[in-house]
Amino acid sequence: MFYYDDGLWIDRPRFAIDVCRGQRAAFISHAHGDHIARHGLTYATPITINLLQHRLGVRNCIALPCGVPHDLPGAQLTTYPAGHILGSAMLLVSGAERLLYTGDFKLSPSATAEPAEVPRADILIMESSFGDPRFRWPPRETVVDQLINTVGEAIAKGVFPVIRAYALGKAQEVTRILTAAGFAVTQHPVIAAMSAIYEASGCSLGNYDVYRTAPETPSALIFPPRTQKAGYYELPTRTVRIAVTGWAATFGSRHQLDVEHAIPLSDHADFDELLQCIDMVDPKQIYCTHGPTTFVDHLRSLGLPAQVLGAKTLA
Ligand SMILES: [Zn+2]
Repeated sequence: MFYYDDGLWIDRPRFAIDVCRGQRAAFISHAHGDHIARHGLTYATPITINLLQHRLGVRNCIALPCGVPHDLPGAQLTTYPAGHILGSAMLLVSGAERLLYTGDFKLSPSATAEPAEVPRADILIMESSFGDPRFRWPPRETVVDQLINTVGEAIAKGVFPVIRAYALGKAQEVTRILTAAGFAVTQHPVIAAMSAIYEASGCSLGNYDVYRTAPETPSALIFPPRTQKAGYYELPTRTVRIAVTGWAATFGSRHQLDVEHAIPLSDHADFDELLQCIDMVDPKQIYCTHGPTTFVDHLRSLGLPAQVLGAKTLA
């Protein structure tokens, strides 16, 4: 039904899934850079198509709105919200068996992504980036309070909080949280371009400005991580640096991320949510991708039929 050979393919009808090299036909689960390419034909949710058009200028797309089956010769495709970023989707391929590909997903709530819906399937191919017991997110209210308090303390001292957040997804979620808490927010232009698509898709982010030069009074500045390519803008002199990422849950992350505050606001499932997802899908076979092999070992120790997706898997 599918095979893996340096990328994931459904074999009948043949199309790639989240392969980041151009293919004749491919499903794209969401618009993050490591999942996208210019394909001959793209299947994706309508919002992901809007984001792809902005990022890559893709044409020839077939929109798969969530919950609406799309018939192809030999299989039916249905998308389900993945809860990762706006427009992100899981893909259910119903043919001889039911195969669910999760893509990046999160079960717990997000300020901006549609809540995840998880169907049952025979074969589960799951993203498991945080498949280690070290990664258990604190309650969401705790993390949101930590963000709001850190930003509030900086502004009260006349210092600009600079929040480093991925330009697509995390930056918009942080914006929504901070504008809802009454803070003035200023976004790097790369982020503002993505935010405009969120707003046009009906996901309101509140009032925010676009950064050109430092505002006169401190506001929350939302900038991409240094690892993401973006135009250079001079920051104010007095800043406090904040990272928002699941990796903040690990010891020493502040030092590694080169920030004063690391807040574990993640858009991925944590260890417990990965197990919860398996419970919901109730699959006969599990393939894990993007995560530690120890997660597969853990699933096997629980008696679950799991293996790593990779090195020429065939099923
Ligand atoms: Zn992603």
